[in-house]
Amino acid sequence: MSQSSMFPEAGAAPLAYASSLAFVPTRAAALARLDAFAPNMGSLYAKNRNRDDGPADRRYVSCLSPYLRHRLITEQEVIAAALNRFAFSTAEKFIQEVYWRTYFKGWLERRPWVWDLYTDDRDRRLNELSGDQATAYQAAVEGRTGIDGFDAWTKELIATGYLHNHARMWFASIWIFTLRLPWSLGADFFHRHLLDGDAASNTLSWRWVGGLHTKGKTYLARPSNIEKFTNGRFSPSPEDLAKEAPALEDDWNGEPGDPPGDLPLTSRDPAFLLLHEEDLGLETLPVEKARLVGVGLFVDPACRSAAPVGGLVSQFTQGAIDDTRHRAKTVVGCDAVIVPDEDNLLEAVTAAGANTVILPYLPVGPLRGPVARMTGRLAAEGFRVETMLRSHDRHAWPHASKGFFRLKKKIPSLIARERTPSLL
Ligand SMILES: Cc1cc2nc3c(=O)[nH]c(=O)nc-3n(C[C@H](O)[C@H](O)[C@H](O)COP(=O)(O)OP(=O)(O)OC[C@H]3O[C@@H](n4cnc5c(N)ncnc54)[C@H](O)[C@@H]3O)c2cc1C
Repeated sequence: MSQSSMFPEAGAAPLAYASSLAFVPTRAAALARLDAFAPNMGSLYAKNRNRDDGPADRRYVSCLSPYLRHRLITEQEVIAAALNRFAFSTAEKFIQEVYWRTYFKGWLERRPWVWDLYTDDRDRRLNELSGDQATAYQAAVEGRTGIDGFDAWTKELIATGYLHNHARMWFASIWIFTLRLPWSLGADFFHRHLLDGDAASNTLSWRWVGGLHTKGKTYLARPSNIEKFTNGRFSPSPEDLAKEAPALEDDWNGEPGDPPGDLPLTSRDPAFLLLHEEDLGLETLPVEKARLVGVGLFVDPACRSAAPVGGLVSQFTQGAIDDTRHRAKTVVGCDAVIVPDEDNLLEAVTAAGANTVILPYLPVGPLRGPVARMTGRLAAEGFRVETMLRSHDRHAWPHASKGFFRLKKKIPSLIARERTPSLL
């Protein structure tokens, strides 16, 4: 089967959705959304965040995830906005959700093999799709299952690049327990179409729904819950949904490795900053002591999967890179260049007169391999390569070893530390 007939959804034309859901891939748009949503980060969010009123009404959730995913804004900035308006106790629920992202990233960082096992499983299953399973898969990714809600979420995901958290949970549950499709193919479908598609949050959320993250604890999508929290927009027949969610099983998790330690920049030599799509937060990177003489940008949204990535994902990522390129001149006073491969990087670093390359920490995920090859080449050519780990991750990841609860208990002290710059 050709790629285009196997994955027709990848090229699907966006449906006409409310303009409120058009994600503009710039830091300015991220800050505007942050500003607009900040008044809702308190009890309004805590009370209503599970409501999915549809793409035309997202007033109860922030829709900041595509920006956080590329760090056009940072977790620290979002949490600060909440605390500038509300007491910690009032904004606690919102802040905890932001820390779920931190938790998943730290958890996967300490078990990188889970990502490798996932990609192996995904690729094998994509290759082996055939017969009834291929038919069921096609129906699911084209929104033709006949299950009320599910088909609409498929189309909404492809058309907007976003789904409400509750819809993601229902979708994943129906995919695994009703349609009995492999979880790794569902995770792949999400990763290819979500603007916020993230190796850690996505893979581990799918594993959580299937009972693989918190061993034995699954999530069952119930018709009454869907009807209630979609305000009656969807009402799947009880006959259409699985009534049980028996936990999937594997032995992937194992014991966590150590989190990365402190990675301070030591070089005071002329340095070239290599930004990648995992962290485009130029304004907040700890580069104040570096002597920057050039900036390069690496982007490769297609590496999210062996199957085609959604057009909106490519557009958003490319747009975020273009925006960062424009901001670089103002923020660090350097013209930024796109460096698609190691030859281009070597050329750009040499032309800038740098002898050091610095880059934001690259978390576990599809970009790590390509960027490691690029920096490996530079190191082999005698350039010094240094990585920066943000204090938010450095302080939180040691607590992301088992369940979320361990990290949750630490949130107040982590925030106190972040708000006292001398402790960072
Ligand atoms: C099956 C499944 C797949 C998911 N895949 C992704 C993914 O690829 N990328 C991703 O960022 N999130 C993912 N999530 C988590 C969550 O659904 C989204 O982060 C959230 O819906 C984004 O919308 P928002 O910005 O309006 O969230 P808000 O409710 O406004 O939350 C604010 C921020 O907190 C973080 N956050 C909130 N909830 C979660 C959560 N449960 N887990 C991790 N971070 C969270 C996000 O960065 C979000 O932008 C997934 C959840 C499920 C159930």
